[in-house]
Amino acid sequence: MMNAGGEFELIWRFFIPLGCRDVPVSIGDDAARIPVGIDHVCTDTLVAGTHFMPCWSLRHVGYKAVAVNVSDLMAMGAEPRWIQLALTLPEGEAHRLSELSAGVREACDHFGVCVTGGDTTRGDQWVITVTALGTGLSSDALWRRAGAQPGDLIGVTGTLGDAALGLEQLLGEVPPSVETEQTLALQRPRLPLATWRSLLAYEVHAAIDVSDGLVQDAGHIAAASRVALVLSVERLPLSGAVRSACQQKANWDLPLYGGEDYQLLVTLPPSQAHKAAKAGLITLIGHVERGHGVRVLEAGCPIELSERGGFQHF
Ligand code: ADP
Ligand code: MG
Repeated sequence: MMNAGGEFELIWRFFIPLGCRDVPVSIGDDAARIPVGIDHVCTDTLVAGTHFMPCWSLRHVGYKAVAVNVSDLMAMGAEPRWIQLALTLPEGEAHRLSELSAGVREACDHFGVCVTGGDTTRGDQWVITVTALGTGLSSDALWRRAGAQPGDLIGVTGTLGDAALGLEQLLGEVPPSVETEQTLALQRPRLPLATWRSLLAYEVHAAIDVSDGLVQDAGHIAAASRVALVLSVERLPLSGAVRSACQQKANWDLPLYGGEDYQLLVTLPPSQAHKAAKAGLITLIGHVERGHGVRVLEAGCPIELSERGGFQHF
């Protein structure tokens, strides 16, 4: 909690309205009290200068801070329920809290979660940390990175590379005030919520959300499951904008290494995978076999993968 005067007023003004009505004690006490039944928890932080530029709309940043956590719960097959919101804000920036809280509220409404509490502190730059709490649907619907089996097919929801193209646009010629499909994909991830709900009825062996780039996240499934993931670059689902950017660059870096798409990468036994693809839930982009690591094929031949593909902080 920050010590400067007025902080209570800020919290009451902007965050009490986000408080949960479905828990016995929400924002306002020393701790929230929530019913038992929570069995999933995750945390993700957005730091100004690292994950977003301080001039970006804080409405989008607030939305995204909630969305990236909801995405982590979805990747586990867990229903998002409640969030804790820890904020650090620079001196003189409290007037932007209304923008931020508007974005948090939009995400809460969209994803069906509410805020149980949080913390507010003063610091050198904006830092937004969300902890999300969720409930697993059942022990057999437990999705993990470790469940991929040789013979599984690999599917992905939505399209890949849009957020990375949005970042290129923002760092390049597009001024921050202009929004495109791609800058919105980056700043306000469109999580595959309806698709995810439908996928819960399928026999998903392994799942991860594609946050750090397809190759890197596929690598996490490969390592956790002790298998090899083989992907075909021609099959990757691409928007028109990403497809033409790839053609212009003469490489597939945007969908292979671009982060922050927040789509779901899943492996399923073939009959289930074909059924899910036919239902329009996923695009089939490869298969699982014995071995290790990730191979990406173009016209049937492996392409050389970048050593440090995808996003890493350290
Ligand atoms: P304490 O200092 O006793 O830990 P605080 O004064 O930090 O408590 O917080 C008072 C209440 O306001 C708590 O219920 C806390 O969860 C809530 N709160 C503080 N900051 C936020 C925030 N950014 N978002 C939501 N709730 C918050
Ligand atoms: Mg207290």
